[in-house]
Formats: sequence, structure tokens, C-alpha cells
Amino acid sequence: MSTISALKRFASLQQPLPARVFVPYSQLQQQKILESHLISVLHECTTLNQLKQVHAHIYRKHLHQCCYLVTKFIRMLTKLHVPIHSYSRLVFQQVNNPNPFLWTALIRGYAVQGPFSESIRLYCCMRKQGIDPVSFTFSALFKACGAILDVNLGSQVHAQTILIGGFASDVFVGNTMINMYVKCGLLDCGRKVFDEMTERDVISWTELIVAYARNGDMKSAGDLFDGLPMKDMVAWTAMVNGFAQNAMPRKALEFFERMQDAGIATDEVTLAGVISACAQLGASKYTNWIRDIAENSIYRPANNVVVGSALIDMYSKCGNVEEAYKVFEAMKERNVFSYSSMIAGFAMHGCAHAAIELFFEMLKTEVKPNHVTFVGVLTACSHAGMVDQGRQLFATMEECYGVEPTSDHYACMADLLGRAGHLEEVLHLAETMPMGPHIGVWGALLGASQIHGNPDMAEIAASHLFELEPDSIGNYILLSNIYASAGRWGDVSRVRKMMREKKLKKNPGCSWVEVKKGIIQEFFAGDATHPKTSEIRKALEDLMERLKANGYQPNLGSVPYDVSEEEKRRILMTHSEKLALAYGLLNTDAGSTIKIMKNLRICEDCHIFMCAASKITERKIIVRDNMRFHHFTGGACSCGSVWYKKGHGRKGYAMGKAGGTGKMFAIVMLSSFTEAEQIAAIMICSHCWHSKLDRRTSTAGAPSSTVGRRSSSDV
Ligand SMILES: [Zn+2]
Ligand SMILES: [Zn+2]
Repeated sequence: MSTISALKRFASLQQPLPARVFVPYSQLQQQKILESHLISVLHECTTLNQLKQVHAHIYRKHLHQCCYLVTKFIRMLTKLHVPIHSYSRLVFQQVNNPNPFLWTALIRGYAVQGPFSESIRLYCCMRKQGIDPVSFTFSALFKACGAILDVNLGSQVHAQTILIGGFASDVFVGNTMINMYVKCGLLDCGRKVFDEMTERDVISWTELIVAYARNGDMKSAGDLFDGLPMKDMVAWTAMVNGFAQNAMPRKALEFFERMQDAGIATDEVTLAGVISACAQLGASKYTNWIRDIAENSIYRPANNVVVGSALIDMYSKCGNVEEAYKVFEAMKERNVFSYSSMIAGFAMHGCAHAAIELFFEMLKTEVKPNHVTFVGVLTACSHAGMVDQGRQLFATMEECYGVEPTSDHYACMADLLGRAGHLEEVLHLAETMPMGPHIGVWGALLGASQIHGNPDMAEIAASHLFELEPDSIGNYILLSNIYASAGRWGDVSRVRKMMREKKLKKNPGCSWVEVKKGIIQEFFAGDATHPKTSEIRKALEDLMERLKANGYQPNLGSVPYDVSEEEKRRILMTHSEKLALAYGLLNTDAGSTIKIMKNLRICEDCHIFMCAASKITERKIIVRDNMRFHHFTGGACSCGSVWYKKGHGRKGYAMGKAGGTGKMFAIVMLSSFTEAEQIAAIMICSHCWHSKLDRRTSTAGAPSSTVGRRSSSDV
């Protein structure tokens, strides 16, 4: 029934009630019927206009003093986001004797819309008038305290519940109290409230489980979960997502499987959590497993934009950008997350032009780009060395697309300009950016100083970084490496001394390689503990001989120590990714892709080594370091080696590859191409996404999304 026709029916239902002292029972009964009808009409209202019509009827029927009805009316106004000051407040003021429920409706309105302090003020007024609160009053007050993160006020309200009494057993009050303490960061107080509750429901448990998971305390979350008598979907999902967010992907999968065995339904939130867990594991058996589950659920990625976007993100992070694009293409509806994940995926894998092309395609749709989208496109520009394109996008993003540049975007720009060698411009950017000094931007300058061998600029960047993040060892190592490359050994030992004084320990370089049956092996730099060490060493030496015969020379500049050349050669041979490669070659089938991931950045020597090895062994090698993916094929890398060269001589190299197996990645190196050459390469590239490339691509986890960050490689 439409609102209007419903109201018409009520109009005919009864004549206006004259105000009088005595109301006969029959009339009273009719009034009650009218009230309940009006309330059901109220609940169906979806616009302010409809509410106003109901309000008019309330007046015409002389019901504007009925607290019950007015309470419901104010709650509806709040629900429809009608500004509380301009309407609800006035309605409230018309009532001569508001009851606690009506007071609470107004207090709650302010707790939802703010100003939150008004909730507290109203509560004091109510108490001054001698009106006792009800449980809803406290839940509204706790909500307000949680919103302003004022635990002091929150504990005063808590004291009121004790002072007035009778609320200790109210589960609703208890739950909002837990929520308030948790929001204010006092998890222990939340737990205390929980422990003292005489009655709890599934919300009380879940509230705390989620809080523990956010705090990274999965042990306590698990203990609580075990004690929960009736576990519903929300509670299970809290556990699955908690493990996924705390980098415990195997546990997340285990809980998901238990959840399925218990016959609990899953929703898109659960699925997104499991997908993120699979992304962390990276092994293809998990990614395909969860894709099949999603495909067979009611949340199919093609129809569900949340699940679809999560899958795109997963495949991109696992090194399989072709599969990510397939998911993207099949999606019937796409939102800003789907586009942003796909753009970021392309950027991460060096398909910069594809990323930018997709961005412009997105602009033609209704979907508006957001801050994440711009991080993706600017990263793409950076990886492809498209300086002018990046500058233009950065300059117009606010004006043309309404996205205000954040520090992340400044970091992208610093990265882009720094790689291209515009170090002075990065310095200017860092000194003038509106949000003040920023780790990302200085970090990008430090990284760029390394690429372009500029120790003076590195000193400036490092001095800022030492202040901003005094305990981050990566900055010290990078600076000492830059001095080492310039042969300034005195400065190297000065930096090393600083590190010793600060007692900073270096993160050991560590690589993982996936071999048959999805088994993952771990190697540390200089690792001689593996049971097959001698076999691995032998394989590595054999490979080295073959590479040397083909012109490979160890890049001794990658070793930042003042040691003999022989020692430098020896150190380079023990880099963790080389050990992982040798193990991978021994333990995978001929012709299959080798997937390696690394906690630090791959060094220049290992990068040259992998390029050469991919050609000699005719294997595709994918290395995910903490910056990005490197796809090595036929002697070339998808990153165009931009991190390792000063941007020269890339053109001929790319052209040489465009016809061969490396054609998919020719696209990265297009910055120096003519327009016609670029278009040709884009076509080659887009063709490759649809071709059946080897799907068995890399790795667990994902490279750090923070652009402009850098870190040391194995030293
Ligand atoms: Zn290395
Ligand atoms: Zn590379």
C-alpha cells in the first residue's frame, strides 16, 4: 500500500479527537489502532516528504503529544539522515511531557549525527528533570562516547549505570559498553565488562573476538570463539578474517573449512577474507580452489562485485595478471574497487600502458576514480617511465577528477621523477608538499639517489629519514651502499658505526621457492643449512659456468663491503634468490615456471643473473621482491631493468624482444618509442593476456603497496 493511499484510509477511519478529560474505552481503543497503523506507515517511509505527510496526520489526529508515536517519528527522521537540529529537535520541543524513550530518541539522534557532546548535554537535562534513563539511553550514550573516543566520559556513563542500578544484566547495554571500550583502545576493560555480564548474546562474543583479531591477539580470539555456545556466520567470519588479516592464512583456511563442515552459510565478507588468505599463500592450488568455491556459491565473481574485486586482487598479488584480467572481463558490474584492483595489478606487473588504458576506459563509465585508483595509475606511469603523462595526471587529479592528492600520491610522484633522474624536482616536491615531511617521498629520493649514483642527494634524503624513522635499518644500509658504490669507504664505515651504536640488526635476506605439489622451500642469504646444500651449490656453479660462457659477469658493485674481488664473488653466489633458483631448477619439471619470492629488494647482480638464467634454461622465472614482480623471460625482465639502469639503451632491447617470447613485457619499456611503436606493442600485450600463458605463477603475499619505499637487498 502506498503511503498516500494508506493515509487516505486513516483519514476516513476516524474523525479528529476533541481534547477532553474523559475518553470512553471504545474511543481509546480506536486511538490505539490508529497509532499502530500510523507506526506501520512510518516504517515504510523512504523520503522526507512521506514523513512530512505522516507528521501532518499526527497533528490532525491530535496525536502530537503521544510520546510513543513521536519517538518512532524521530527515530525515522534519524534513519533518513534528516538534520536533527532542523526537525527532530522542533518536534521534540512540542511535546509537553516527554518520557524517557522520547528523550532517548533525541539523544540517540545526536549520537548518530553529532555533535556528540549534545547527547551528553541532553542526558544531563533529562536527569535534572528527574526522569530516569532506560537501557536504550545508555546504549546511545556509549555510542556517542565511542564516536568521540572519549573513554573518560564513557567511564562516567558506565558509573551512571551502576549508580542508577538495574542495568548490570542488560545485554544490550553491556554490548554497547564493550564496543565503547574497544573503540577507545581499552580492550582489557571491554573484556572485564564481558566477564561480568550475567547474560551474553552472540554479539557480545563477536564484538570481543573482532577486537582481539584487530589487535593481532588471535590466541584470545580463538579462546573466546571456542567458548561461544552458538557460533553463527558472523562469529565464524570474524575468525576467518582475523587470521587472514594477521598473516595466518593457513589458519584462516582451516577455520573456513571447519565452518563449511559445520554447515554454516558463507557470505561475501567471508569469501573476501578467504580469498585474501589464499592471496597470501600464493600457491596456485589455493587460488584455484577458492575461485571454484566462489564460482559455485551464490556470490559468483561475475555477479558479485565484492567477490570479483577480491579475486582480481588475489590473482594480481599471486603473479597471475592474466587470470585477474579474465575475472575482471567477466564481471557484469564493476565498481571503483574492481577497476582500482585491476589497474594496480597491471601496474604491479609492469603492464603500465594497460593500466593507463584501463584508467581512461574507466573514465568513460559512471564509476568515478578514487585515491586508490590514482595510486595505481601513477605507479604505472612510474614503472613505465612515463614522466609527462604522470605529471599531467598528478596536476589535474583534483581539478578534473575531484581527488585531492594525498601523501601516497606525492610518494608516487617522487618515485616517478626520481627514477627518471629528476632528483632536484623530487627534493623540491619533498620540501613543498602541503602535508609536510613524509617518509615515502624522502625514501623515493634515497632510492633514486642510488639508481643515479648521487651520494650528496642521498645524504639529504637519509638525514630526513633518520629523523622520521630512526630505527629503520633499511635507510642506513641503502646509504652505506650508495657510499660504497661511489668508493667512499670512510663514509661507509661511519654509517656502519651508527648502525652498531643504535644496535640495529639487519633483516636477513630470505627467499622462498614453490616446487612440485605446492611445497614451499625457504632460503636465507648465505644459507648452508639445507640438507641438499652441496647439490644446490653444484647446480649453481654449473649454471654460473654456462652463464659466463654466454657473457655474464658478476656485478661486484652489488657488494657494499670493502673486501677482495674474490670474496665479493663468493658473497654474490650465496644470495638467497640464487639458492632458491638453483633449488627450483633441481625440483621442478623442465619448462615449467619458477616462482620465487623475496623479503627484500632483488639486487642488481641477481637481476642480471635471473635475466641470463631465463634465457639459458628456457624457463620463465618470476621473482616477487618487496617492490614489485619481475617476470624474467628469454633474457629480459618485465621491469625493463629500470631500477638497475639509468634509463638508457632500453629501446633497442625492447624491440629485440617484441617478436619473441618476451613480447608480453615489451610494453614496459615504451617510454622512448614512437607512437606507432607504442600502439603495436600495446596490441601485442593485450593479445598476450588472452593467450594461454603458463598459469603457474608466483608467490605468497604481495609486494608492499607503499610506493616510493625502498629497502636493501641481500648484502
Ligand atoms: Zn642478489
Ligand atoms: Zn626486473
